[in-house]
Amino acid sequence: MTRRRLVYEGKAKILYEGPEPGTLIQYFKDDATAFNAQKKGQIAGKGVLNNRISEHIYTLLGTIGIPTHFVRRLNMREQLIRQVEIVPIEVVVRNVAAGSISKRLGIEEGTQLPRTIIEYYYKDDALGDPMIADEHIACFGWASQEEMNDIADMAIRVNDFLCGLFAGIGIRLVDFKLEFGRLWENDYARIILADEISPDGCRLWDMASGEKLDKDRFRRDLGGEAEAYQEVARRLGLLPEGEPNAVLDMAEHRQKRGK
Ligand code: UDP
Repeated sequence: MTRRRLVYEGKAKILYEGPEPGTLIQYFKDDATAFNAQKKGQIAGKGVLNNRISEHIYTLLGTIGIPTHFVRRLNMREQLIRQVEIVPIEVVVRNVAAGSISKRLGIEEGTQLPRTIIEYYYKDDALGDPMIADEHIACFGWASQEEMNDIADMAIRVNDFLCGLFAGIGIRLVDFKLEFGRLWENDYARIILADEISPDGCRLWDMASGEKLDKDRFRRDLGGEAEAYQEVARRLGLLPEGEPNAVLDMAEHRQKRGK
């Protein structure tokens, strides 16, 4: 029997050595954390759903020419990915004010932004992922200007595509986080989309009811988090049809908790 070598364990995913050089296996856990891991819990079935949702979105992004690390899904919780050198920057794209921008700038949650905003955060748990400007990225050499241009261009293309994809299934894409990596080919590195896109790193609001269909249900103790992830998967066509729309259950959860 061979034991797979663990390469990295994060809060929601584990990376194992892949079957061939330059590949990794990305395993999706049910673990959920919030507020820089001060709040910890589990969302039953989350890993399975995020694996499927991210597979679906990365496959679609591939068809419009966005290079990603995704190769193929292996099983319920694992996907084969290309090994990249992660750029230590979290790229947040915002269409609607929510979360930290609302708090920081006093903008009411739900305010449609007059233009899309891209923000950068330095990936460092010990520092609590501080927000940074292009100047910091250039000064400390976290990415070159050319790489940052590619990252910003891709982030906007991903946003345009995802806004349409989600609008088509009655979901408002409020904001989301992306991570990019360098794929080395000989002495040349190109930037590709890495990590995952799932309700863990997006704010997704039901257009009809405003109900949250993302990790904010966990962060804010709204209840119904597993149902919310299932609802996103169901609307994307990844779960059998015929299941009832879970948004009513979610409203019930919220009312029970008086939120
Ligand atoms: N986000 C994320 N990981 C982080 C921080 C943010 O996936 O470490 C996502 C989050 O889910 C949301 C968007 O990025 O969709 C913007 O998050 P925000 O800056 O508002 O931070 P929060 O309020 O979640 O702390």
